[in-house]
Amino acid sequence: MKKHNFYAGPAILPQMAIDNTIEALKDFAGTGISLASISHRSKEFVAVMAEAESLFKELLNIPDGYSVIFVGGGASLQFAMVPFNLMKKKAAYLNTGEWSSKAIKEAKMFGDVVEIRGKDFSYIPKNFDVPQDVDYFHITTNNTIFGTEIREDFDCKVPLVADMSSDIFSRPVDVSKYALIYGGAQKNLAPAGVTFAIVRNDILGKVEHKIPTMLNYKTHIDKESMYNTPPVIPVYTAVQTLKWIKEMGGVAAIEKLNIAKAQLLYNEIDRNKLFRGTVAEEDRSIMNVCFVLNDEFKEFEDEFGKFASARGLVGIKGHRSVGGFRASLYNALELESVQALVTAMQEFETQKN
Ligand SMILES: *Cc1c(COP(=O)(O)O)cnc(C)c1O
Repeated sequence: MKKHNFYAGPAILPQMAIDNTIEALKDFAGTGISLASISHRSKEFVAVMAEAESLFKELLNIPDGYSVIFVGGGASLQFAMVPFNLMKKKAAYLNTGEWSSKAIKEAKMFGDVVEIRGKDFSYIPKNFDVPQDVDYFHITTNNTIFGTEIREDFDCKVPLVADMSSDIFSRPVDVSKYALIYGGAQKNLAPAGVTFAIVRNDILGKVEHKIPTMLNYKTHIDKESMYNTPPVIPVYTAVQTLKWIKEMGGVAAIEKLNIAKAQLLYNEIDRNKLFRGTVAEEDRSIMNVCFVLNDEFKEFEDEFGKFASARGLVGIKGHRSVGGFRASLYNALELESVQALVTAMQEFETQKN
C-alpha cells in the first residue's frame, strides 16, 4: 500500500533526494568510496558544501553581504547562539508557540527579553510595537506545533531574526528584510543533523563578551562550515533536495503547489461537519495543518486515527502537547496524498452519518 507521509519532522523528502543519497552511500561521486567514509576535506565533498551554499543563495535570491553556514546542534542550539552572538543587553521576541517559548528561555540567560504574545497560540498577534532599543527582534515564521504562520516579510527597524525551521523553501523570502534566518533541516530539506544559518555579516562582532569558538557564527563563516567535521550525509541530501526544488521551477513554483495543497485540506476541514480547524483563518499555516473533531464527535478521535492509518496515511497525530490531528504538507508531499486524506475524511463522515 502506498504510504502518505504527513510527519512533522523528520519528514517527507523528495524521492530523488533519498535515491541519490543511497547511491552516494554506496559510491560517492565516482570515487568508489561511500559518502559515509570519505574525508570531508576531499575535493569531492568540499564541492558538495560549496554547492549547498550556492544553491541556498540562488534559490532564495540572497543578496550580497550575507553568509550561509551549515552546523550541527539543531535549531535548538540556535536558540542560544543567536543571543550569544547578537545580544548586548536586550532583545524582543514574538512568542507564537512552543518553539518561540524555548528560544525565549535561552535568550533570558543573556539579557533582558521583551516578550510580545497574544492571549493564546491560536493566532499571530497583530499591530504590536517592537521596542526600538533592542539589539534584535526574533520571530518564528511557522509554528510547527500550533499550525500558524507568518508568510509576509515585514519591515522592522531593528535587526530581524527568524526561525524558519519548518517553512524554509516553502515560499520566496525577501532575505533583505532579515538580519539572520536559521533552521533545522529536518522539516523541508534533509534528514536530521544539519542546521542552516543565513547571516548578514554586519550584525556580527558587536558584543563585548567572548563567544566559545564553536558557538561563534564567525568561526563557521570564516571556515566555510568546515571548522570541524560537518554532518556530511545530511548536507549531501540537502543539496539533492535543493536541486529538486530548482527542477520544480524554484520556490515561487513550489509555493503555488503548497498553497493548492493547503487549500484542498482546509476546504475539507471547513466543509466536513466532523472536523474543525484550530487556528485563526488568516494565520493558517500552509505547512502544518492542525484540526480536531468537533466536540459532539470527540469520541471518534482514536477511531479516525486508525481509519486513516489503515489507508496508508501516516503521521497525522497532533503534537503530544496539543492533541487532535496535524497534517504536515511539506514541499515533497504530493497533492495526491492530500487528496487521499480528504477522501478519508469524507468517507469517515459518511460512515458516522
Ligand atoms: C522542529 C523545530 C525546532 C527544533 O529543531 P531541532 O533541530 O530539533 O532543534 C525549532 N523551531 C521550529 C520552528 C521547529 O519546527
